[in-house]
Amino acid sequence: MTAIVWIRRSLRQHDNTAIVEASKENDEVIPFYVVDDDYFENADLGYPRVKFWHEALQNLRQELQEDGKDLVIRKGRPIEELEKIIEETGAEKLYFNRDYSSYARKRDEKAKGLDVDVKSFKDLVMFEKEEILSNSGNPYQTYTYYAKKWFKKDKRRPQKPENYTVPDIANDEISSLEELGFERPEDFEWIWNPSSKGGTKRMEEFKKKILNYDKDRDYAWKNSTSKLSPHLKFGTVSIREVFWEAERIKARNPDSEGVKTWQEELAWRDFYFQMMYNYPESEEKALQDQFRKIEWRSKEEAKEDWKAWKNGETGFPFVDAGMRQLKKTGWMHNRLRMVVTSFACKDLWLDWKEVHQYFSEQFVDAEKASMIGGIQWAYSIGTDAQPYFRVFNPWTQGEKYDPNGEYIKKWVPELEKVPQNYIHKPYKMNKLAQQQSNCTIGEDYPKPIIDHDKQRKKSVEKFEKARE
Ligand SMILES: Cc1cc2nc3c(=O)[nH]c(=O)nc-3n(C[C@H](O)[C@H](O)[C@H](O)COP(=O)(O)OP(=O)(O)OC[C@H]3O[C@@H](n4cnc5c(N)ncnc54)[C@H](O)[C@@H]3O)c2cc1C
Repeated sequence: MTAIVWIRRSLRQHDNTAIVEASKENDEVIPFYVVDDDYFENADLGYPRVKFWHEALQNLRQELQEDGKDLVIRKGRPIEELEKIIEETGAEKLYFNRDYSSYARKRDEKAKGLDVDVKSFKDLVMFEKEEILSNSGNPYQTYTYYAKKWFKKDKRRPQKPENYTVPDIANDEISSLEELGFERPEDFEWIWNPSSKGGTKRMEEFKKKILNYDKDRDYAWKNSTSKLSPHLKFGTVSIREVFWEAERIKARNPDSEGVKTWQEELAWRDFYFQMMYNYPESEEKALQDQFRKIEWRSKEEAKEDWKAWKNGETGFPFVDAGMRQLKKTGWMHNRLRMVVTSFACKDLWLDWKEVHQYFSEQFVDAEKASMIGGIQWAYSIGTDAQPYFRVFNPWTQGEKYDPNGEYIKKWVPELEKVPQNYIHKPYKMNKLAQQQSNCTIGEDYPKPIIDHDKQRKKSVEKFEKARE
């Protein structure tokens, strides 16, 4: 029998649940990909993410071809293209891995109406939908309780597909990035290898650091996290593969907290996926009802502040370093994601949906569930969020997590020569210090664009007013 495996974002062959299951039950399997016109027309896409996807797709095709198989690619509307390929090949079955955003769920619901036997699988996460519920049968909104069950539950191991053949079928060329409308931004650094090999290599490198993850992960300058996020996003590694790799290290180092702390991050990822699935309204609205009526400042209203935040020119060095790392590489350290988002909220009062849109365009790993979760956490409007009265201090965050200013100096070169005692508050340098460090405040680097203490107080008041 012939089966189609509709690949969307598990861009790998090994431990790809839909491929594995199709190969068990069919001799002929057609790995099939649709470059989705609907998605390209409507999503907030940007160069880093599209480039990662584009290379990962090409690499998957090559990987399959080297294995005597192929990836059949078409461009158009997914359901129409599926109808065509089913007609062309006489396939009787359709397999795909489940996805959880409202867009993906609507699309997949339509696929269930196709005139074939449709089977979908859990692949993207360790546990999905309502697999982990509270004792009263409700989805968890608090991570700690969720994580306890997540760790206790049996987890699947990675699987290899069985042998299968791919019939010879007409294949579209993959349009170039330029044809798709994406140009490399000026001065952009590409640090990714978007393929299964690249993902495996990333994990191998990270294994050397994982035992210290609990101690090092918050220090932005240390490069101590895995940087697997775009690989997990596009499926160039599988969640089971990386979890079990880590588990093997844990078995050999039972006293280390490093592995457990890292696996807790994988549990956060699942937690946010189940939140998006069970509370789809959070894609559009603050999860906490009481804060839905808060009026944020639009990009238009906050014009100058928005520009300064986006370009890393706020005069708060730690915030600026984070925003510039993002602009230059498409990735930002987690500590900085929290700090810059908190700053956008509690210091600048920027509309969280526009912040979401900007991050979606900029992040190489833009993942709706984790991004909505992270933004609503920092904005104090989501589940298990930072309480609204706890406001990150952008200076002390820098002093604590980048004490010598190494991260700041890497991403904000105009502060390179600023002495350590001024690196977090360069605006306090006197004329001589400014001269000696080649950094004139107000010319080479801005003064703080807002008074943080005032903004902090106002912010707490605004939240309190919303709660009345
Ligand atoms: C405002 C904000 C926006 C975010 N947007 C995204 C996003 O679009 N895509 C994304 O993958 N992550 C997002 N995160 C979560 C986190 O910042 C990144 O997953 C992490 O920085 C990726 O780096 P890493 O792969 O080195 O992570 P590691 O520290 O090595 O963690 C391993 C993996 O665990 C997952 N993970 C880690 N932290 C979190 C978290 N807090 N929430 C959910 N999953 C997590 C990721 O898949 C990550 O690759 C966001 C966080 C915040 C505060």
